[in-house]
Amino acid sequence: MRMSEIYAPTLRETPSEAEIISHQLMMKAGLIRKVAAGIYTYLPLGWRSMKKIMQIIREEMDAAGGQELFMPTVHPAELWLESGRWQIYGAELWRVKDRHERDFCLAPTHEEVITNHLRNDIRSYKQLPQRPYQIQTKFRDERRPRFGLMRGREFIMKDLYSFDRDEAGLEVSYQLMHRAYSNIFRRCGLTFRPVEADSGAIGGKGSHEFMALAGSGESEIVYCHNCDYAASDEIAPLVPHGTGRDEELRTRREVETPDCKTVEDVARYLGVASNRMLKSMCYWVLHKDESEEILLALIRGDRQINEIKLKNTLDCLELRFATEEEVRGIGMEPGYCGPVELKKGIRIVADAEAPLMVNHECGGGRKDFHYLDVNFGRDYTADIVADIALVEKGCPCPLCGQPLDSTRGIEVGQIFKLHTKYSSVLGARFVDEQGLEHDMVMGCYGIGVGRTMGAVIEQHHDENGVVWPISVAPYQVCVVPVNDKDQSLMLKAEQIYQALLKRHIEVVLDDRHERPGVKFNDADLLGFPIRLTLGKKTSEYGLVELRLRESGEVRELPIDEAVDSVYAMVQELMAQYE
Ligand code: ATP
Ligand code: MG
Repeated sequence: MRMSEIYAPTLRETPSEAEIISHQLMMKAGLIRKVAAGIYTYLPLGWRSMKKIMQIIREEMDAAGGQELFMPTVHPAELWLESGRWQIYGAELWRVKDRHERDFCLAPTHEEVITNHLRNDIRSYKQLPQRPYQIQTKFRDERRPRFGLMRGREFIMKDLYSFDRDEAGLEVSYQLMHRAYSNIFRRCGLTFRPVEADSGAIGGKGSHEFMALAGSGESEIVYCHNCDYAASDEIAPLVPHGTGRDEELRTRREVETPDCKTVEDVARYLGVASNRMLKSMCYWVLHKDESEEILLALIRGDRQINEIKLKNTLDCLELRFATEEEVRGIGMEPGYCGPVELKKGIRIVADAEAPLMVNHECGGGRKDFHYLDVNFGRDYTADIVADIALVEKGCPCPLCGQPLDSTRGIEVGQIFKLHTKYSSVLGARFVDEQGLEHDMVMGCYGIGVGRTMGAVIEQHHDENGVVWPISVAPYQVCVVPVNDKDQSLMLKAEQIYQALLKRHIEVVLDDRHERPGVKFNDADLLGFPIRLTLGKKTSEYGLVELRLRESGEVRELPIDEAVDSVYAMVQELMAQYE
């Protein structure tokens, strides 16, 4: 491709709405353009990179027994009603009507449609396992689309579904996918970590997320330096730890705490350590039967509530903090909530540490009052006691007890064991050797293609632009003649360009009428892994300069070795991502 013809509108300024580096660079390097919130066009360079990622994904999926097909984006509501997800998917499900006012959705995922096919087409154990997959556009009407391709409302996903005859079969499929995902992300040049994960709206039990490590990531991972443990903070279990356990139970006392609304205020005012305090948070909860509830959740003062655990514990549709009005509605003063003498009928969910806290402090329910020396069982009880705490850096590892560390990551892929969650409700069954019917045992496996490209840029850039791993670079090489008025230099560059094309190297010739500085800056911004420069030394001594984008390493070569050297360098770099 000639640079003069390429549609890659680079920007000098960083667009103000782009908060993270990958979004900024995708805009500046002309890889994508926004059409609406969370909806993007992939421009030619961005699309080339996307296609390379998709090719790597296809190779690994095929090698793991996948078969590519292509399913529709528009799904009839009936299938989603049948699975129950028409109701429970919530506002993220993009619902549309046709001209006859019939309900459809733009698919956020394809369990319903693929399970429907298999229930109609597969009868016998002889036809299992099946591992159909596709690379296709998904729609999720995200509350906060942001970070460019990271959290779009329309995005490209690879999704594979496995159908096996039993749990042992699922385990095989799951391990094949786990390995394939590791290969894919390694070949894309990502530093990543598979972690134990929550299964969210997809459901099922048993899941891993593949996290590309990056400070800008929206996910928090906790991991252990001492053993192999790594998990998303969404599910990591807290090893409960009591406080004041060697003390005698003291009589409960009421104390005045004027203007002490937060745990920190109270801790300071009363001189009590925050781990001897109990935080009480009011939540509004929407249940699956559409009933609403205001309840109280209790957690040790120095911990945070993990709302995903709370949601899983309650098995509810949605939850959020109660408003001040809702808090007053259950007879409590906002900022002073507590479980003691709570109004009848208001349920309490206590974190598993609450019963292990002896003589603790908590809110008094009314303004400017707290209780001291409160004890579970004597002064209050709970309707549910469960682990609802967020695990943070420093908490003990659930496997070996050493303090956990934490880091941020971008969830580029997730794999789930669905078991018979969909096959049982939708009736996807097969007949075994004895003629007995069984539900198919399923798994599902997703990769965000655009998010993967974003993660690659998050991990591979410098102050001058993108530093593509060659495996996913839009082009491998850029040939830059520095003086376009020098006809003989331009001719030499053209010859090298043609020779590289002949050898199937993906090469760009910067034939533009621009100053060398502009050309170099653009080559850096676009991140071509190899730059071959023809300049003064070419005309005078017949030397060209081969420069590697990543290391900045420069070699001078005789011009007649240029093509062979570039070719060899491309192979060498590519081999790193095999
Ligand atoms: P998240 O927790 O980030 O919202 P998710 O867990 O809902 O994602 P999955 O259902 O596991 O997503 O989808 C599979 C993959 O699709 C994710 O691992 C991610 O890479 C990608 N993905 C999900 N939502 C988006 C989105 N809004 N924009 C871009 N990619 C996405
Ligand atoms: Mg996920």
